[in-house]
Amino acid sequence: MIIVLLGAPGAGKGTLAGAIKDELAIHHISTGDLIRAEIKGGTAIGLEIKRYVESGGLVPDEVVTRMIEAKVKATASDKKGYMFDGFPRTSAQASDLDKVLAANGLSIDFALYMEASLEVVLQRLTGRRVCKKCGALFHLTNMPSRKEGICDVCGGELYQRTDDNKETIMKRMSVYNEQTRPIIDFYKGQGKLKTVNADTGADDVRKALLQILNGKKS
Ligand code: AMP
Repeated sequence: MIIVLLGAPGAGKGTLAGAIKDELAIHHISTGDLIRAEIKGGTAIGLEIKRYVESGGLVPDEVVTRMIEAKVKATASDKKGYMFDGFPRTSAQASDLDKVLAANGLSIDFALYMEASLEVVLQRLTGRRVCKKCGALFHLTNMPSRKEGICDVCGGELYQRTDDNKETIMKRMSVYNEQTRPIIDFYKGQGKLKTVNADTGADDVRKALLQILNGKKS
C-alpha cells in the first residue's frame, strides 16, 4: 500500500503516521524528519538547506526528491509499502514521486487529504513538542506527556521546533496555500484523492483511514 498524506502543517500527518505505521507495517517517510536529521548531523546538505527550513520556505525540489529516491531504492524490495508525509509539497515533486515509484515498479494507491481549519492547525503547531531522541510527537494540551518535558516513549527531552513559532508558521501556511494546495487537484485528476476531516482527534482520523483501507469509505 502506498499512501501520500496531504494537508497543511499541523493537519496531523506525522501524528497519524506515527499512530498507524506499525499497525499497517508500512514505511513512514517524512521529508521533514529526513531534513532535520541532515541539519542536526551538520552534513553538507544539512548546512545548505538549513536556511530554507528556518525561514519557513521550501527546500529545493531536486534535494528532497533525491532523498526520497534513495529511500525508495533502498527499501522497495521489502514490499512493505509507504506512507509519505510532507512529500510531495510542489507539483514538480508530485510528478517526480510518480516517476521514482514507477522506476521501482510501484505506484500510489491514494492520497489522503487531511482537511483542517486554520484555527485548529495554529493551535496544534504552537503547542507541539517533539522528542529530541526518538521524534515522538506531543502537544502541551491535546496530548501532553505524562511527565512535563520528558518523552513517554523513550525518556528523551522534549523540545519546540524552531519553525513552530508564530511568524514562521504564518510563512509556512502561505507557502502551503501557494505551492502545496494545488497538488490536491493533481491527485483528484488521477482519481486518487480521499478526504478526511482532520479537525477531529487523532484517533478519529486513524479510524477514518482504516475505514478507507477496508473499502468502507470513498
Ligand atoms: P515538516 O516537518 O513536514 O513540517 O517540514 C519542515 C520543513 O522542512 C518545511 O517547512 C520545509 O522547509 C522543509 N520540507 C519538508 N518537506 C519538504 C518538501 N517535500 N519539499 C521542500 N521542503 C520540505
